[in-house]
Amino acid sequence: MNLPDHAGWKKMANEFTHQTKAFIGGDYVDAQSGKTYETINPATEKMTAHVAACDAHDVDIAVKSARTAFNDGRWSRLAPRERGKVLQKLAALVLDHADILALMECLNVGKPIMEARMADINLASEALKWYGEAIDKLTDEIIATPDNVRATITREPMGVVGVVVPWNFPLLMACWKIAPALAAGNSVIIKPSEQTPQSILKLAELAIAAGIPEGVFNVITGHGTEAGAAIGLHNDIDCLTFTGSTAVGKKFLEYSGRSNMKTVWLECGGKNPNIVMADCPDMDKAVMNAAMNAFFNQGEVCAAASRLLVEETIKDEFIERVAMIGKTRVPGDPLNPKTNLGAIVDKNQYDRVNRYINKGQEEGADLVLGGDTVTIDGTGLYINPTIFKNVQSTMTIAREEIFGPVLAAISFKDINEAINIANDSPYGLAAGIWTRDINVAHKAARDLQVGSVSINSYSSIDIALPFGGYKQSGIGVDKSLHAIEKYTNMKSTWLELD
Ligand code: NAD
Repeated sequence: MNLPDHAGWKKMANEFTHQTKAFIGGDYVDAQSGKTYETINPATEKMTAHVAACDAHDVDIAVKSARTAFNDGRWSRLAPRERGKVLQKLAALVLDHADILALMECLNVGKPIMEARMADINLASEALKWYGEAIDKLTDEIIATPDNVRATITREPMGVVGVVVPWNFPLLMACWKIAPALAAGNSVIIKPSEQTPQSILKLAELAIAAGIPEGVFNVITGHGTEAGAAIGLHNDIDCLTFTGSTAVGKKFLEYSGRSNMKTVWLECGGKNPNIVMADCPDMDKAVMNAAMNAFFNQGEVCAAASRLLVEETIKDEFIERVAMIGKTRVPGDPLNPKTNLGAIVDKNQYDRVNRYINKGQEEGADLVLGGDTVTIDGTGLYINPTIFKNVQSTMTIAREEIFGPVLAAISFKDINEAINIANDSPYGLAAGIWTRDINVAHKAARDLQVGSVSINSYSSIDIALPFGGYKQSGIGVDKSLHAIEKYTNMKSTWLELD
């Protein structure tokens, strides 16, 4: 693969023109109010664009457009195979534009360009392709009835689906939702995070080029409290699918209750335990995984292995080895293909992570790595990989989602204690267990209150596996065939014959 070098990516960044308009009814449009807001590149702290600040008025126009498209059947009534072909074409177009899409993620999120290029964009394309390929393989049900009756259970698209996503993997989180929603025949209105609108706005252009009809795919840019709330409260949106913080997820449940009782699906926060037993079969792999999954994407990952639970007898050596790997993740210019740790997305998040680091020290945890910030050429929101040990599960850094490169290491005496600590959390997204003992592995897989358990690995992300949370990590799943169910209504039809 022929990818640009550092100078090449910088040149592309200098020449890049940011999209500043929302995308409604097949066209890029300003907010009706004319208002805009600024996006900032966290690596340079410089303003990058003035983007349309949409509000309830714009959301209403987008909903009308999406509803008209849904009702006239231009997409909803296409044969599933035809919709599938369009989604597969869109997947191919995403790959054709992978460099520019990766650049957009890099400039908006501050993430390393190669991680954006190789992970975010490839996985986003894969999601579109996978649902495109899957949708004509599904069948409905016929029920056993008396001879004079034909009773069926069918799945129908819900109508207009509102999609609200975060900034950590902008295009990927969007595609995990819009791919099954569109495959099922819905129209969608998506609101990217205010920090990261570019890649999703570009996807709108590619969607039209792939053959998704006008009005079926709309992008509302703007603030959560205005545009996001207006989507949540709209009376003609049938389903709302959200990825983001637990606090905002709860607001969408309220919005639904205050409006039309739309179905709400939530993918929220995590504080994920990665449990390492002394009989771990491959310590090198466990050390590498513990570090990589704590610091990948600056730790801004819902499924980050942010709580390291290590058996007492091996804890010092294991944590020391994780710290050695942590040191190899060095903050650098996200446009440099060699960079493996980028900037924190914005000043709010940077301050928040630093507050947690201070809190960890105040509450008595031992800092073994990092804890400090850096600048590159005198600027940028960078935080060094940070590890605390001797963390108690009552401490704030063990309980709250930090969403930064901060690892809290807790020790335990046996598997029962490890599982108790792991489950002592309002979250339940993902977990890892490293052991040679199949009985321990089985017990952990059964007793951990999380949506995904990895055994002797961490966080397998295959698109065919559901990904969702227990407890306050969410409601419903992304990925897998089960995600399609989220965007369909189930209908029973009883046909009585002569
Ligand atoms: P966030 O909750 O602040 O924002 C998410 C989205 O909600 C954004 O588009 C935002 O504009 C919108 N929003 C914010 N306030 C709103 C309001 N009052 N009403 C309506 N909409 C509003 O989350 P974030 O900071 O963008 O992302 C980080 C969070 O996302 C973390 O908690 C992380 O765990 C979570 N996340 C979860 C998953 C998962 O699959 N479980 C994946 C990625 C990220």
